[in-house]
Amino acid sequence: MTLQDTEAAIRLASDLIAESDHLVALVGAGLSAESGIPTFRGAGGLWSKVGEPSMNGYEQFLADPAGWWENQLDPAADPARTEFREAIDSAEPNPAHHALAELERMGVLKATITQNVDDLHNRAGSKRLIEIHGNRTKVRCIGCEGRWSRDEFSYDALPPICPKCGELLKGDTVMFGEPIPPSVIDACYREATLCDCIMVCGTSATVYPAAGFPQIVTSGGGIVIEVNPNPTPLSRIAVVTLRGAAGALLPKLVERLRG
Ligand code: NAD
Ligand code: ZN
Repeated sequence: MTLQDTEAAIRLASDLIAESDHLVALVGAGLSAESGIPTFRGAGGLWSKVGEPSMNGYEQFLADPAGWWENQLDPAADPARTEFREAIDSAEPNPAHHALAELERMGVLKATITQNVDDLHNRAGSKRLIEIHGNRTKVRCIGCEGRWSRDEFSYDALPPICPKCGELLKGDTVMFGEPIPPSVIDACYREATLCDCIMVCGTSATVYPAAGFPQIVTSGGGIVIEVNPNPTPLSRIAVVTLRGAAGALLPKLVERLRG
């Protein structure tokens, strides 16, 4: 893509956003790649290197919650997980996270649905944030959906128990085989239904249900804008694609929308 193509795409995207009533961002691991957090799939992805994790993680948690917590608290138990955590712990929000937070402050962006678990949107100042796969810095009750910072609990006695309802606490990150918490999925569908323009940033759009939200938007007559250096299954339904790194392109979009 030439510089002119990129500039034309930014102009078109910003015009479409300015005309929209309810812009929602759908975000994936690519947005945090420039913060030094590896994606899971594709070139340089963690799973491409170490293989995919167990597909029945939640079942394993329910079968032995204390054993699951012991394993979680032991950095030697899973070196790939530890590498991912260390990358997250040393990461800072990048210009793409700041651009989304700024679009929200400008009143342009109505909600951000992120698949990322790294807390970088919060740290950049996003408020209308739906963390569909949870947040690595938190724990959640499997009964009442209460969420707390991980640091608020001691892990001397395992498994930790919800102080509100007595059910099991687990890491907030949604595991394979685990239902997305009902309040979270409801909020996503509400946004997808209201949305007339969805900006899909840094996701390969292969993990459902998040990958299905753009189709909900287009079925309601809305449009898809994509921000990704690589083609994805969603590229063919996007009215415009910003082909490049989100950290370079989203701030340009903000600049143009500011006028
Ligand atoms: P993915 O790993 O499947 O795909 C990443 C996408 O980002 C690719 O399409 C790639 O082309 C694109 N990309 C790479 N660099 C980019 C950049 N600089 N700017 C914009 N796009 C860029 O990620 P996914 O679709 O989010 O699915 C993986 C799942 O794993 C997610 O659901 C998420 O829960 C989890 N995950 C989270 C993190 C995190 O919290 N940072 C990191 C890895 C994976
Ligand atoms: Zn509870």
